[in-house]
Amino acid sequence: MSTSSSTGVDLVPLGERMRMISAFRAAAVALILGGWQLLPSARGDLPFSTIALVSLGYLAATLLIEAAWRASGRRATWIFGVFAMADGVFLTWASFGQGGLASPLVYLLIGQIVTVSLLASFRTGLKLAIFNAWVLIAAAYLTEAGLVDALGGPPVTFGDDAYWALLVVAGAYVLVALVTTSFAAVNERELRRRRYDLEALARFALELEAVEEPGPIAERLLAGVADIYDCEPSMVLRREGEGLRVLAARGLDDVPANAVLVGDAAAAPVVTKAMADYGTTLVATSARTGDAALAPFGDGANLLITPMRDEHGEVVGALVARHSTRRGSRVERRVVTMVERFVSHASLAIANAYLLVAVRDLAVTDGLTGLPNRRHLDDLLTRSCAQIARGQGTLAIVMVDVDHFKKFNDTHGHQAGDDVLRVVGRTLSDQVRAGDTATRYGGEEFCVVMPGASREDAMQVAERLRVAITEMPIAFDVTASFGVAIGPVHGTEPEVLREAADAALYDAKHGGRNRVAVAPEPGARLREVA
Ligand code: GH3
Ligand code: MG
Ligand code: MG
Repeated sequence: MSTSSSTGVDLVPLGERMRMISAFRAAAVALILGGWQLLPSARGDLPFSTIALVSLGYLAATLLIEAAWRASGRRATWIFGVFAMADGVFLTWASFGQGGLASPLVYLLIGQIVTVSLLASFRTGLKLAIFNAWVLIAAAYLTEAGLVDALGGPPVTFGDDAYWALLVVAGAYVLVALVTTSFAAVNERELRRRRYDLEALARFALELEAVEEPGPIAERLLAGVADIYDCEPSMVLRREGEGLRVLAARGLDDVPANAVLVGDAAAAPVVTKAMADYGTTLVATSARTGDAALAPFGDGANLLITPMRDEHGEVVGALVARHSTRRGSRVERRVVTMVERFVSHASLAIANAYLLVAVRDLAVTDGLTGLPNRRHLDDLLTRSCAQIARGQGTLAIVMVDVDHFKKFNDTHGHQAGDDVLRVVGRTLSDQVRAGDTATRYGGEEFCVVMPGASREDAMQVAERLRVAITEMPIAFDVTASFGVAIGPVHGTEPEVLREAADAALYDAKHGGRNRVAVAPEPGARLREVA
């Protein structure tokens, strides 16, 4: 209340405020004229014609000035203050000046102070109240001094009723200005808070547009609710099978992002129940809940658990955050609402991010075997070759080709052929080492990429794969041939390496199939040709 409420004032443009104050003035003039007709106690010595002439003249003059002000296009905010003061003088004349201190038209001045206090600011309202009081007192003393006959009714002398009435009216002016502006300030603060909340939400939505991955989106959510609503520490949990995985965590030392926090939802009864609810669940203290998902918060007080949904409205996780209010005091409704809004924005963004991941995966996955496809292989080879071209480590690739597969299709049908390719794919991906990648090159050909593998490593793995294929749990005898090439020995470019592996595969086929061949050393090949 001690500050001028300039923020709120800016919400209403000056032109509109001028229009409102003019409307008030017109209504006041109507009341003054009506009051003269209906209430003898509101009349002074002046005839109606004079009152009407002055009132309507004043009204017309202000309208003209206002029109000129609008036409000039200048801002000139002082005009508002000048009008308020002029109105104060006019209304004092029309009420007290005519009917004395007991004039019922005193309410017009009170109304004017309320209007100006609401339209302008705390300071303007208070200044007007003091100004009006000053005009009234000055009029009283000028009358008493016999200088003008400004105040109707009995003369004012110190200590008599009229004198006290004067002081009471002046006090009432100031009180009305104070009360009006302090109520207005409460409303204004609420409005400002809402504006702040909406702006924060808009900023958050904008921020999310720049993030594509689920993890970073969850991190932004945690940062947002921490910065703006003091919700920290916090984490975003994601349902995964029977358990809950941490998508992001903030201010919780023992919770690494992307770890499975709870293997079985039964160990997290409070969080699980909260996720089944539509809105936010408030947990007064995490101590003694016996909930494993809340354990990282220790005996933290005032936890919020807000469910997160996917694009179908299905609950897929939750935000769990501690609000920094004192233990035992309630979390404000506003905080809960805003956290829910933030969560709903983030949930949508996370759902979209997962869709994007799925679409991207689809683009680099082979439909039949589920292995990474040719496009993925090309990217992988380009990246891996760039590394060995810089002199960093080795890279082995193994081309795998199913033997006599055309005949197999002809004999057992295409469908059985597809089934075999699926099992070959699974066998390869099961048998490769961590860090190695089995891909479907196309048709009945596969390619295994092994970063960092030596010639011996690669041959060993290829041999293991060869045996594994012969031992596949299927009703047919299926074998495959393997061609191995190693970078940088056989080359540092994807094309060159692949050709070397193809050449080795050709050797394996010609050597009788169901075997592993390594591309010859470049020098050896030259010697052979010579
Ligand atoms: P080789 O031992 O020399 O490799 O003989 P091959 O018959 O396997 O070689 P070839 O390249 O002549 O034939 C490959 C066959 O693989 C032709 C095609 O019918 C079959 N094939 C390619 N892609 C698929 C597929 O997706 N599904 C099935 N069922 N067969 C496929
Ligand atoms: Mg082939
Ligand atoms: Mg083949």
